[in-house]
Amino acid sequence: MLDLAIIGGGPAGLTAGLYATRGGLKNVVMYEMGLPGGQITQSSEIENYPGIKEVVTGMELMEPWPEQCMRFGLKHEMTEVKRVSKHEDHFHIQLANGDDVKAHNVIVATGSTPKRAGIKGEDTYYGKGVSNCATCDGFFYKDKEVCVIGGGDTALEEALYLANICSKVYLIHRRDSFRASPYTVEKVKAQEKIELVLDSSVEEIVGDQSGVTGVKVVNKSGEKREINAPGVFIFVGMHVNNGVLKQEDGSFLCKVNEWGEVIVDLSMRTNVEGLFAAGDIRIQAPKQVVCAAGDGATAALQVVARMH
Ligand code: FAD
Ligand code: NAP
Repeated sequence: MLDLAIIGGGPAGLTAGLYATRGGLKNVVMYEMGLPGGQITQSSEIENYPGIKEVVTGMELMEPWPEQCMRFGLKHEMTEVKRVSKHEDHFHIQLANGDDVKAHNVIVATGSTPKRAGIKGEDTYYGKGVSNCATCDGFFYKDKEVCVIGGGDTALEEALYLANICSKVYLIHRRDSFRASPYTVEKVKAQEKIELVLDSSVEEIVGDQSGVTGVKVVNKSGEKREINAPGVFIFVGMHVNNGVLKQEDGSFLCKVNEWGEVIVDLSMRTNVEGLFAAGDIRIQAPKQVVCAAGDGATAALQVVARMH
């Protein structure tokens, strides 16, 4: 029986592992289906993690984290977890290879994944001008023009955030009405730096060796337009990676909100005793490395207190 099973080896899972093992827990396993590090390893630039002196790649930032955790006894199993369920007072971790592992406590830190829009050039220029994170990358376009694609709350809120940094924001949406809340829509309409490009789809993101140079847009009447901008922010929805919490009958092991985010308190506790969620998967996650790491530490400290 494990003291703690950690599902996911991104910043939240790794930090949970560090705090749990340094806190004296002996039998802690982190299940990560790929190499530890999480989604930030896809980023070519990160400069908002405290303490880093210059811009580093996500890979460079995360490279020392697993080794640090392993030094204190964290074990990593490179396997996918299929399901976490609870029987009496302990959890069952069902692995992709069919094994079933028991644990007293579980921290779920499986993150979230931004949806791709499926636009030509999106993959080619991902990380080279195409981004899913205004907080992460907005500053690189200070006093420059950027495009935002999407019409939901995220797209509009991030467009407002970018308008504080950039000289102009083209908000490109495929319809003429928004999915976002009316209050946010009013704020966007009142922001002079945002130009609404409605009833319009991006046909292609174009660029050169240095990265994105602009987008080709077509509206519903078939009129074409090219917008020159070095940054394209795509916010067309998120997949919350909550699959491991889905039970055989389709219900979730713990409470989630209408968007599938795990409901936790300030200690990262779910409504199920011994089950915690940390990082991008939880409600109101700021979706930042530093915040995910903080969540992981918070959850692990709760587990340590629970086991002593
Ligand atoms: P993740 O990092 O998503 O890690 C979850 C891990 O769980 C993954 O490694 C995944 O493989 C694993 N996993 C999922 N399901 C399973 C399963 N069933 N079994 C086993 N393993 C599983 N943040 C910043 O602070 N600054 C930035 O500049 C910044 N830039 C970014 C740039 C890009 C391109 C991206 C994609 C994100 C960026 N972020 C940035 C956001 C940051 O990466 C996330 O907020 C952070 O990684 C969330 O950490 P996490 O541990 O919650 O989840
Ligand atoms: P969302 O509400 O699903 O909106 C996605 C937007 O992207 C929609 O406008 C959609 O257009 C557009 N879109 C989808 N696929 C596209 C494609 N392939 N190409 C171009 N456009 C595409 O996603 P979200 O904005 O990330 O929000 C997710 C949930 O979180 C929502 O329920 C939202 O209310 C919530 N949220 C709330 C807050 C808040 O309360 N402050 C903040 C952020 C998010 P259509 O409209 O035409 O479908």
